[in-house]
Amino acid sequence: MTHSDLAVVGGSFAGLSCATRAATHGLDVKLFERKISPGAYTQSTGIFVKEIAERMALPIELTRKISGVRLYAPNMNYIDLSSPDYYFIATDTQRVLGWMADQAEIAGVEIHSSTQVQQIELTKSKVRLPEQHISARYLVAADGANSALAKQLGLGQNRHFLAGAEYEVEGFEELDDDKLHVFLTSSYAPGYIGWLLKGVNTVQLGVAAKPGRHIKLRPFFEFLKYHFNSKATMLSGRGGLIPCGGIVSPWAQGNACLLGDAAGMVSPLTAGGIHPSIEVGAELGNAISDYCNGAGVLPHERISPLVKRYPFKRRLRGAYNSLGMPDYAFNYLISNPLFRKSAQLLFFHHRGLFCKEAWRDILFSTAHAEQ
Ligand SMILES: Cc1cc2nc3c(=O)[nH]c(=O)nc-3n(C[C@H](O)[C@H](O)[C@H](O)COP(=O)(O)OP(=O)(O)OC[C@H]3O[C@@H](n4cnc5c(N)ncnc54)[C@H](O)[C@@H]3O)c2cc1C
Repeated sequence: MTHSDLAVVGGSFAGLSCATRAATHGLDVKLFERKISPGAYTQSTGIFVKEIAERMALPIELTRKISGVRLYAPNMNYIDLSSPDYYFIATDTQRVLGWMADQAEIAGVEIHSSTQVQQIELTKSKVRLPEQHISARYLVAADGANSALAKQLGLGQNRHFLAGAEYEVEGFEELDDDKLHVFLTSSYAPGYIGWLLKGVNTVQLGVAAKPGRHIKLRPFFEFLKYHFNSKATMLSGRGGLIPCGGIVSPWAQGNACLLGDAAGMVSPLTAGGIHPSIEVGAELGNAISDYCNGAGVLPHERISPLVKRYPFKRRLRGAYNSLGMPDYAFNYLISNPLFRKSAQLLFFHHRGLFCKEAWRDILFSTAHAEQ
């Protein structure tokens, strides 16, 4: 049995971010990923918000900047939304995760791919992974929305999900590629949205729906082809569950904690989970380093104030799920000024809902209506 400072389970955004930061501080870190390599068969659309893309300095060839959002009602009337100096980043997600894994290895993380962790034993001062023959001072379980480790550790589990599915396609040559095209449609994406964007090498389109509702990805693809007069063809498909119930409780105990989707660190409204996974992951890496170097505070206790609970967004998501919204209501709302401002707030609030700059942008930037 070998001994490490930190064992991380899951080699995606959360696990890689935490492991890299901890290793940068000199910790002995082992990361286990069940797939053949981090990033293989990723489920995510991979859209990054500006703040996190800039901080990570992602390789330019793996990214594409998108300045605005075009929000469509079911009748295909739309409004364009943007915010000064703000943008999203479309990514070649699989290669971004491969790049993050390279950064982790450069920092000193030992990555074990094709290794599924199934058994964990917690003692007062150690964590043991008997099948992997290692013990560690701290364990981070970043094993995704359906975390089996959360169950095994007796921690909280995600109970509320959106289901999302996406195609990578070739075509849609006429698409405005500086926009993230977002579709409000109860017919194809009840309870959430559909999306279409020019990614790095392909066009990506997808839908997500609230639990218990059928995802109509193929019909949505046909509908978009008809609307955009395109002969697009499908290249590949993917999908998965998106937690939307907020942070699970408890998300940590003893010398172990959950991170990323496993902990429910996803915005219940936008379903964006990459930003919190990477940001909280890095802070957790700092805290684990201090803990292993003798600072008494448990890492999860130290970062707890940074973990967003999303009480307002959770309530909005709950209301949206139970009320539902017929297509005619969206057709009406799209031309309503208050709705436009709310949509602007939703897509461009990343500097904080109560941040002065965000409100200035919202109140003074223009949203153009198209018929
Ligand atoms: C269709 C879809 C589109 C999305 N689009 C976006 C988007 O555009 N922008 C955004 O911000 N968010 C998006 N999300 C959400 C985002 O993808 C997640 O929030 C993010 O991937 C969470 O990262 P994670 O590291 O916590 O978990 P995951 O990315 O789920 O990774 C978990 C990892 O753990 C591994 N694993 C699981 N169990 C074990 C085990 N026992 N042993 C070893 N390894 C294990 C898995 O193989 C996987 O690699 C989307 C989600 C879906 C489903």
